[in-house]
Amino acid sequence: MATINDNYLKLKAGYLFPEIARRVNAFAAEHPDAKIIRLGIGDVTEPLPAACRTAMIQAVEEMGDRDKFRGYGPEQGYEWLREAIAKHDFQARGCDVDASEIFISDGSKCDCGNILDIFGSNNTIAVTDPVYPVYVDTNVMAGHTGEANDRGEYGGLVYLPISADNHFTAEIPPQKVDLIYLCFPNNPTGAVATKEHLQAWVNYARANGSIIFFDAAYEAFITDPAIPHSIYEIDGARECAIEFRSFSKNAGFTGTRCALTVVPKTLKGKAADGSDVELWKLWNRRQSTKFNGVSYIVQRGAEAVYSPAGQAQTKELVAFYMENARIIREQLTAAGIQVYGGVNAPYVWVKTPNGLSSWDFFDKLLHACNVVGTPGSGFGAAGEGYFRISAFNSRENVNEAMQRIAEKFKA
Ligand SMILES: *Cc1c(COP(=O)(O)O)cnc(C)c1O
Repeated sequence: MATINDNYLKLKAGYLFPEIARRVNAFAAEHPDAKIIRLGIGDVTEPLPAACRTAMIQAVEEMGDRDKFRGYGPEQGYEWLREAIAKHDFQARGCDVDASEIFISDGSKCDCGNILDIFGSNNTIAVTDPVYPVYVDTNVMAGHTGEANDRGEYGGLVYLPISADNHFTAEIPPQKVDLIYLCFPNNPTGAVATKEHLQAWVNYARANGSIIFFDAAYEAFITDPAIPHSIYEIDGARECAIEFRSFSKNAGFTGTRCALTVVPKTLKGKAADGSDVELWKLWNRRQSTKFNGVSYIVQRGAEAVYSPAGQAQTKELVAFYMENARIIREQLTAAGIQVYGGVNAPYVWVKTPNGLSSWDFFDKLLHACNVVGTPGSGFGAAGEGYFRISAFNSRENVNEAMQRIAEKFKA
């Protein structure tokens, strides 16, 4: 019989969201009239910007015209999209990123996982705790870890705890690690990193020959002008960092699918024979072999994000969610609850009141207010005692949920 990849058996089978669903369904079955408001999922709710829809409709029409029809596109993505990204997202911020260093894909989630294809199996890997679970699970699947302990920590991974004590930004580890995942603005904590903090990471990575995987999926939500949007705003980052970006959150593309990864041509990794190899070449080879590009229609939709109308509409979309975040922060604070994040990110990270565990607070919020959030412990052991509330929802739902919480929690 065919054997399997046994590493999959080590996975703590996606227990967070199924467990949330189980508890919500049980509650709904007992209380069929309860109007449950879900502030738990990291998915957008508002419709696609008009500029993107118009561009995609036009692209569909082109596909119906024999002279304008397009088949396979370049695996790396169309040059007009990569040029627009290089100009608006990077060069306009003083980042030295060329269009040839940008790879268009159908999602940052897959890129974060797929990138491991081009790295060896004996790297020491660091993640923050709490963390976006994709970074951990893809390393488990690739056989880079041992078994999980009862706190859900996998053997072989270096966990960097983040909490209020270190402003939810991981401290530079004393030991040498080869691959480091950093996500700013952060999911789940909503924290951001200063230029100085990122500079310390870049200096560490260069001193140790490490590679930083920088996930900037939420950069559009930064409101503080002093906070860097890209790791390439930091001196030396071209020598040590790969950046992941996505149209999912800034332009509502979670269901449309388009993202990008930047692999600078100056990045190197070590081969078994001790020679230095350009990572760009390996990633280009990997994508050309295993990926056939993003749909022409979707790439035209993504390009429209950079048109004047697209810029205005995505700005408005982000501002809408950030107003939700402001309402959540203010209402929870007024109810005597300690909150973090939600200023430069669409997530509010809540300290559970009265020392409740993350799951106890989940149950309390569900039963008393019929509001669903995400227990912080689901993102890692150090997330215990915290709770994530997402600003991705309608204004009506956010106001209603916050009103219910204010009523129940106000002293
Ligand atoms: C939503 C999100 C992404 C984007 O994923 P896509 O696959 O592009 O939709 C990437 N990283 C984090 C941390 C996210 O929350």
